[in-house]
Amino acid sequence: MTTRTTVAIAGGGPAGTACAVALGRLGIPVTLVEMSTGSGNPLGESLASSATPLFHALGVFAAVMATHPLPCHGNRSSWGGEALEEHDFLRDPHGPGWHLDRPAFNAALLGAAAAAGADCRLGTRVRSVQRDGSGWRISLAGPAGAETLLAELVVDAAGRPARIARLLGAVRVAFDRLVGAVATLEPRAAPLRDSFTLVEARPEGWWYSALLPDGRLAAAFFTDPDLLAARAAWTAAGWTALLDDSGGTRERVVAGGYVLANLPSIAPAGNTCLQPAAGDGWLAVGDAAAAYDPLSSHGIGSALAGGRNAAAAIALHLAGDPAALPAYADRIAAGYARYLKLWLTYYAQERRWPEAPFWRRRQAHPDGEW
Ligand SMILES: Cc1cc2nc3c(=O)[nH]c(=O)nc-3n(C[C@H](O)[C@H](O)[C@H](O)COP(=O)(O)OP(=O)(O)OC[C@H]3O[C@@H](n4cnc5c(N)ncnc54)[C@H](O)[C@@H]3O)c2cc1C
Repeated sequence: MTTRTTVAIAGGGPAGTACAVALGRLGIPVTLVEMSTGSGNPLGESLASSATPLFHALGVFAAVMATHPLPCHGNRSSWGGEALEEHDFLRDPHGPGWHLDRPAFNAALLGAAAAAGADCRLGTRVRSVQRDGSGWRISLAGPAGAETLLAELVVDAAGRPARIARLLGAVRVAFDRLVGAVATLEPRAAPLRDSFTLVEARPEGWWYSALLPDGRLAAAFFTDPDLLAARAAWTAAGWTALLDDSGGTRERVVAGGYVLANLPSIAPAGNTCLQPAAGDGWLAVGDAAAAYDPLSSHGIGSALAGGRNAAAAIALHLAGDPAALPAYADRIAAGYARYLKLWLTYYAQERRWPEAPFWRRRQAHPDGEW
């Protein structure tokens, strides 16, 4: 079967759905293709309070609140010293941040995209993208078999690998090789009520932990793959040994009587940026365009904002503005350069282990240039 649309979006995560919502509201025909059907292991993602105005701007606040995210009242971190420093959101004008039930959050955004008029194809994978005159011929593999989608413009919102954009000639630049060994833990006693996120620096990397809305605890150790290999952190025993070496993270796990619920999974989590983030008749958005170290808690908010910005650039492009897509790519590149400088200043604050490879690698660019 062959169908026709104006904009084809590959990927139904926060970036793709935000873009589809914004395009749908502008009355631009859009087809969103998402290969999953909505399940998946939670990464324990938290959103800063600055996400709340984005929910309102996209008109998805009520839909997101209906997934019952857990309010996050602040951050605690031991970074640059043993002591735990606390930053609460009490005086934040946007209110609390949010701990997400990520599959429910994604489903809410997909529902909003469909309500805005997007044709959402779930359980369907983009297999290839080829030029077809001035547009694109996109091969899909869906529940009913192979399909073809013809589109004027294609959006790569399919996450970090940026496979589609790379097929179209863009280059994915990696600035570090951070990975997260991510696991969920189940409470054996009454679950914790402490809704703060906790970040704890260690000689080989850093721990992150946060409650999930269902009372489980998500915990991840972020490090470099060569260091991780030495500790076999993808095994329950290796991961638990790392946890036993930690301070506040271990105390939190012990206090809640938490036990490991699944084998840790390894997720790429380093800084990567696509060059360029847009070209003739295509653009990339979200992690596909620019992916951030989770220390920044920046990924989802940036994907949502990026989806809106991409839709605005697409609308200008379709209205005949030849500068719209190059200007979009320039803004992504400039924003990422600013982010990298900030990222380096965070890592520069941890001076306890100057000889440890994990920290040395991140402190080797004191001028903020790469
Ligand atoms: C361990 C870890 C912890 C993190 N913690 C946080 C946090 O606390 N806060 C935060 O804000 N961010 C966090 N992030 C980052 C956040 O998860 C991402 O930035 C965010 O999910 C990016 O959204 P996206 O829509 O660009 O991509 P994704 O969420 O990756 O969505 C891409 C979608 O594309 C689909 N897809 C892929 N290929 C195809 C294809 N060929 N055809 C069709 N569909 C396809 C996928 O199924 C997926 O649904 C974390 C990341 C990691 C790795």
